[in-house]
Amino acid sequence: MDYLFAPPAQASVAIVGSAQRFPVHRIYCVGRNYEEHAKEMGHSGREPPFFFMKPADAVLHAEAGQTVAMPYPTLTSNLHHEIELVVAIGTDGIFGYAVGLDMTRRDLQNDMKKQGRPWCIGKGFDASAPIGPITPVAQADDVANAGIYLQVNGQDRQRSHVSQLIWNIAETIEQLSQAWTLQPGDLIFTGTPAGVGAVVRGDTLVGGIDGLGTLSVRVE
Ligand code: MN
Repeated sequence: MDYLFAPPAQASVAIVGSAQRFPVHRIYCVGRNYEEHAKEMGHSGREPPFFFMKPADAVLHAEAGQTVAMPYPTLTSNLHHEIELVVAIGTDGIFGYAVGLDMTRRDLQNDMKKQGRPWCIGKGFDASAPIGPITPVAQADDVANAGIYLQVNGQDRQRSHVSQLIWNIAETIEQLSQAWTLQPGDLIFTGTPAGVGAVVRGDTLVGGIDGLGTLSVRVE
Protein backbone atom coordinates (compact mmCIF):
# COMPACT_ATOMS: atom_id res chain seq x y z
CA MET A 1 0.00 0.00 0.00
CA ASP A 2 1.34 3.39 -0.95
CA TYR A 3 0.35 5.57 2.00
CA LEU A 4 1.01 9.29 1.95
CA PHE A 5 2.80 8.86 5.28
CA ALA A 6 3.52 5.97 7.63
CA PRO A 7 0.33 4.73 9.32
CA PRO A 8 0.22 5.42 13.06
CA ALA A 9 1.61 2.78 15.40
CA GLN A 10 -0.92 0.17 16.53
CA ALA A 11 -1.91 0.72 20.18
CA SER A 12 -1.45 -2.53 22.09
CA VAL A 13 -1.50 -4.01 25.57
CA ALA A 14 0.63 -6.81 27.07
CA ILE A 15 -0.98 -10.17 27.84
CA VAL A 16 -0.16 -11.92 31.11
CA GLY A 17 1.75 -15.15 30.47
CA SER A 18 2.22 -14.48 26.76
CA ALA A 19 4.73 -12.79 24.49
CA GLN A 20 1.88 -11.76 22.20
CA ARG A 21 0.29 -8.32 22.42
CA PHE A 22 -3.40 -7.40 22.35
CA PRO A 23 -3.94 -4.89 19.51
CA VAL A 24 -6.49 -2.26 20.50
CA HIS A 25 -9.34 -1.55 18.10
CA ARG A 26 -11.82 0.66 19.97
CA ILE A 27 -12.32 1.79 23.55
CA TYR A 28 -15.91 1.80 24.77
CA CYS A 29 -16.79 3.19 28.19
CA VAL A 30 -19.92 2.77 30.29
CA GLY A 31 -21.21 5.80 32.19
CA ARG A 32 -22.54 5.65 35.77
CA ASN A 33 -22.51 1.87 36.24
CA TYR A 34 -22.16 1.72 40.04
CA GLU A 35 -25.09 3.03 42.07
CA GLU A 36 -23.04 4.92 44.67
CA HIS A 37 -21.02 6.65 41.94
CA ALA A 38 -24.18 7.58 40.03
CA LYS A 39 -25.50 9.14 43.24
CA GLU A 40 -22.29 11.09 43.86
CA MET A 41 -22.66 12.49 40.33
CA GLY A 42 -26.22 13.61 41.14
CA HIS A 43 -28.24 10.82 39.53
CA SER A 44 -30.69 8.25 40.81
CA GLY A 45 -28.51 5.23 40.12
CA ARG A 46 -31.19 3.58 38.02
CA GLU A 47 -31.11 4.23 34.29
CA PRO A 48 -30.34 2.25 31.14
CA PRO A 49 -26.60 1.96 30.41
CA PHE A 50 -25.07 4.61 28.19
CA PHE A 51 -21.76 4.69 26.41
CA PHE A 52 -19.00 6.97 25.24
CA MET A 53 -15.68 6.27 23.56
CA LYS A 54 -12.03 7.09 23.76
CA PRO A 55 -9.67 6.84 20.80
CA ALA A 56 -7.59 3.64 20.69
CA ASP A 57 -4.40 5.65 20.93
CA ALA A 58 -5.53 7.16 24.23
CA VAL A 59 -4.19 3.91 25.72
CA LEU A 60 -1.38 4.57 28.18
CA HIS A 61 -0.01 1.13 28.87
CA ALA A 62 1.77 0.21 32.08
CA GLU A 63 3.70 -2.99 31.51
CA ALA A 64 3.66 -5.48 34.40
CA GLY A 65 5.40 -4.01 37.43
CA GLN A 66 5.93 -0.66 35.72
CA THR A 67 4.74 2.76 36.89
CA VAL A 68 3.74 4.63 33.78
CA ALA A 69 4.05 8.42 33.56
CA MET A 70 0.90 10.30 32.60
CA PRO A 71 1.38 13.92 31.51
CA TYR A 72 -1.08 16.23 33.28
CA PRO A 73 -3.43 17.15 30.42
CA THR A 74 -4.02 20.62 29.05
CA LEU A 75 -7.10 22.80 29.61
CA THR A 76 -8.10 21.31 32.96
CA SER A 77 -7.61 22.07 36.62
CA ASN A 78 -9.72 19.12 37.79
CA LEU A 79 -8.25 15.84 36.53
CA HIS A 80 -10.22 12.95 38.06
CA HIS A 81 -9.41 9.27 38.50
CA GLU A 82 -11.99 6.56 37.78
CA ILE A 83 -10.75 3.02 38.49
CA GLU A 84 -12.48 0.49 36.24
CA LEU A 85 -12.58 -3.16 35.28
CA VAL A 86 -11.70 -3.41 31.59
CA VAL A 87 -13.09 -6.23 29.45
CA ALA A 88 -10.98 -7.17 26.42
CA ILE A 89 -12.81 -8.65 23.43
CA GLY A 90 -11.00 -11.34 21.43
CA THR A 91 -11.86 -13.40 18.37
CA ASP A 92 -14.35 -15.50 20.33
CA GLY A 93 -16.04 -13.28 22.92
CA ILE A 94 -14.32 -12.10 26.07
CA PHE A 95 -10.57 -12.71 25.87
CA GLY A 96 -9.57 -11.29 29.22
CA TYR A 97 -9.68 -8.54 31.80
CA ALA A 98 -7.46 -5.69 32.92
CA VAL A 99 -7.26 -2.88 35.42
CA GLY A 100 -7.89 0.50 33.80
CA LEU A 101 -8.33 4.16 34.64
CA ASP A 102 -10.91 6.32 32.87
CA MET A 103 -9.08 9.59 33.45
CA THR A 104 -11.44 12.53 33.15
CA ARG A 105 -11.10 16.28 32.76
CA ARG A 106 -14.08 16.72 35.09
CA ASP A 107 -14.35 20.49 34.72
CA LEU A 108 -14.59 20.20 30.94
CA GLN A 109 -16.97 17.23 31.13
CA ASN A 110 -19.25 19.18 33.48
CA ASP A 111 -19.20 22.21 31.15
CA MET A 112 -20.20 19.97 28.24
CA LYS A 113 -22.97 18.33 30.29
CA LYS A 114 -24.44 21.74 31.18
CA GLN A 115 -24.42 22.78 27.54
CA GLY A 116 -25.71 19.44 26.26
CA ARG A 117 -22.54 18.98 24.22
CA PRO A 118 -20.43 15.83 23.64
CA TRP A 119 -18.05 14.62 26.35
CA CYS A 120 -15.07 14.04 24.02
CA ILE A 121 -12.97 16.87 25.40
CA GLY A 122 -13.55 15.67 28.95
CA LYS A 123 -13.03 11.96 28.31
CA GLY A 124 -11.20 11.27 25.06
CA PHE A 125 -7.97 13.21 25.44
CA ASP A 126 -4.42 11.92 24.91
CA ALA A 127 -3.27 9.32 27.47
CA SER A 128 -6.72 9.29 29.07
CA ALA A 129 -6.87 5.49 29.24
CA PRO A 130 -4.11 4.05 31.45
CA ILE A 131 -4.33 0.26 31.49
CA GLY A 132 -2.34 -2.66 32.86
CA PRO A 133 -1.66 -6.04 31.20
CA ILE A 134 -4.62 -8.18 30.15
CA THR A 135 -5.18 -11.40 32.10
CA PRO A 136 -6.77 -14.10 29.90
CA VAL A 137 -10.15 -15.34 31.19
CA ALA A 138 -8.79 -18.80 32.05
CA GLN A 139 -6.15 -17.26 34.35
CA ALA A 140 -8.43 -14.70 35.96
CA ASP A 141 -10.18 -15.38 39.25
CA ASP A 142 -13.89 -14.76 39.77
CA VAL A 143 -13.80 -11.27 38.27
CA ALA A 144 -17.54 -10.73 38.68
CA ASN A 145 -17.07 -10.77 42.47
CA ALA A 146 -13.60 -9.24 42.69
CA GLY A 147 -12.68 -6.34 44.90
CA ILE A 148 -11.70 -3.14 43.07
CA TYR A 149 -9.79 -0.23 44.58
CA LEU A 150 -7.74 2.86 43.90
CA GLN A 151 -5.21 4.52 46.16
CA VAL A 152 -3.59 7.92 45.62
CA ASN A 153 -0.23 8.31 47.36
CA GLY A 154 -1.07 5.27 49.47
CA GLN A 155 -4.45 6.56 50.66
CA ASP A 156 -7.72 4.82 49.76
CA ARG A 157 -9.91 6.80 47.34
CA GLN A 158 -12.13 4.12 45.81
CA ARG A 159 -12.95 0.65 47.16
CA SER A 160 -15.83 -1.56 46.06
CA HIS A 161 -16.65 -4.86 44.37
CA VAL A 162 -17.32 -5.63 40.72
CA SER A 163 -20.50 -7.36 41.94
CA GLN A 164 -21.87 -3.85 42.58
CA LEU A 165 -22.08 -3.10 38.85
CA ILE A 166 -25.61 -1.97 37.95
CA TRP A 167 -25.23 -3.58 34.51
CA ASN A 168 -23.01 -6.64 34.77
CA ILE A 169 -20.46 -7.66 32.15
CA ALA A 170 -22.85 -9.82 30.11
CA GLU A 171 -25.60 -7.20 30.20
CA THR A 172 -23.16 -4.45 29.23
CA ILE A 173 -21.93 -6.46 26.25
CA GLU A 174 -25.49 -7.24 25.22
CA GLN A 175 -26.46 -3.56 25.30
CA LEU A 176 -23.26 -2.42 23.55
CA SER A 177 -23.78 -4.99 20.82
CA GLN A 178 -27.13 -3.49 19.95
CA ALA A 179 -25.42 -0.25 19.01
CA TRP A 180 -22.05 -1.36 17.61
CA THR A 181 -20.54 -4.55 16.21
CA LEU A 182 -18.01 -5.56 18.83
CA GLN A 183 -14.74 -6.63 17.24
CA PRO A 184 -11.53 -8.33 18.36
CA GLY A 185 -9.36 -5.68 19.97
CA ASP A 186 -12.20 -3.75 21.55
CA LEU A 187 -11.80 -2.70 25.17
CA ILE A 188 -14.77 -1.98 27.41
CA PHE A 189 -14.26 0.23 30.46
CA THR A 190 -17.16 -0.96 32.59
CA GLY A 191 -17.65 2.02 34.91
CA THR A 192 -16.27 3.28 38.18
CA PRO A 193 -17.38 2.89 41.80
CA ALA A 194 -17.85 5.83 44.16
CA GLY A 195 -14.97 7.95 45.38
CA VAL A 196 -13.79 9.70 42.24
CA GLY A 197 -11.66 12.75 42.88
CA ALA A 198 -8.88 14.99 41.68
CA VAL A 199 -5.19 14.24 41.28
CA VAL A 200 -2.33 16.67 40.74
CA ARG A 201 1.18 16.54 39.35
CA GLY A 202 3.40 14.31 41.48
CA ASP A 203 0.58 12.02 42.62
CA THR A 204 1.00 8.27 42.29
CA LEU A 205 -2.14 6.26 41.57
CA VAL A 206 -2.23 2.54 42.31
CA GLY A 207 -5.35 0.66 41.34
CA GLY A 208 -6.12 -3.00 41.58
CA ILE A 209 -8.70 -5.69 40.99
CA ASP A 210 -8.46 -9.05 42.75
CA GLY A 211 -6.81 -11.57 40.44
CA LEU A 212 -5.81 -8.99 37.82
CA GLY A 213 -2.85 -7.33 39.51
CA THR A 214 -2.30 -3.63 39.90
CA LEU A 215 -1.95 -0.57 37.70
CA SER A 216 0.46 2.17 38.75
CA VAL A 217 0.43 5.65 37.25
CA ARG A 218 2.40 8.75 38.17
CA VAL A 219 0.97 12.12 37.11
CA GLU A 220 3.69 14.41 35.77
MN1 MN B 1 -15.78 5.98 33.80
